Amino acid sequence: MNFAPPEAQAETQIAFTGNLIDPQSEHRTDDAAGKALKDPVARLMLVREGRLCLKVEDGAFAPYFSMAEADALEARFGDAVLLGRTAHGPVLAAPYDREKEALPDNLKAIDFRSVYIQGLLGGEDLGALAQGAALLSWHESHRFCGRCGGETVMRAGGYRRFCAACGREHFPRTDPVAIMLAVKGDECLLGRSPHFAPGMYSCLAGFIEPGETIENAVRRETFEEAGIRVGRVTYQASQPWPFPYSLMIGCIAEAVSEKVDPDLSELEGCRWFSREEVHRMLAGTHEAGLMTPPKGAIARHLIGGWVGRG
Ligand SMILES: [Zn+2]
Repeated sequence: MNFAPPEAQAETQIAFTGNLIDPQSEHRTDDAAGKALKDPVARLMLVREGRLCLKVEDGAFAPYFSMAEADALEARFGDAVLLGRTAHGPVLAAPYDREKEALPDNLKAIDFRSVYIQGLLGGEDLGALAQGAALLSWHESHRFCGRCGGETVMRAGGYRRFCAACGREHFPRTDPVAIMLAVKGDECLLGRSPHFAPGMYSCLAGFIEPGETIENAVRRETFEEAGIRVGRVTYQASQPWPFPYSLMIGCIAEAVSEKVDPDLSELEGCRWFSREEVHRMLAGTHEAGLMTPPKGAIARHLIGGWVGRG
């Protein structure tokens, strides 16, 4: 069984949320990945240095490789993580060693962000990528025990690491990020970071800190970044964000103050936008070329949802 939402739900419009792999987490034995690799129909996603290896056939992109294909690309099977099972058998993700310049013509190693922005994969495969990329990234940076410094080994198909020196078990982490659209009457608050594409404005966002509720993180970040006070906060949707292993938690924040005082060390612009102006940004008809993040971004989902409710 899987826990993904039905197609009609709004979540499916957000990239990285469509994972349909049954994780079978209650059946993860210590050697689950090794066992799955012995299944002749096992399929692997191959990841290297923030890029996903894709087969290109007639302009379409496919993310899965058989064991033999993965072996030819120098997959590191010992570091493979088990994502779970589909009707077609087990699905794993593994790092591989073949340099991207040495790939055959029908294979391309493409960075995760471009895979999503260029729409190279369907929602289901993007969701699997979010799972595999986050897990592999966590393993790469947790080779040693944070308690005693001993070397750790992978267990439970990649959902645990074990330190033989001190017996401590380590579990994959997910870093929560609050992303919020502050609204007041018929206006919403958007900002832009210096690294955004020209003309793009988006929701404010920030990591949730230890001991903090989602609601208080929304209030703190909105005040720190924009000087705006927030009252009621309502959860809207979430998005796995494999850069490297975050979960974006999207909220609507009801502002109770108006004067914007942006933190210029983080934002180069931040102001209120009317619903009409945001509508033109979404439609690509803004007179100054201002725009929102692309389809699939949770910020776009929050902004588009608010405009549509007006
Ligand atoms: Zn240890």
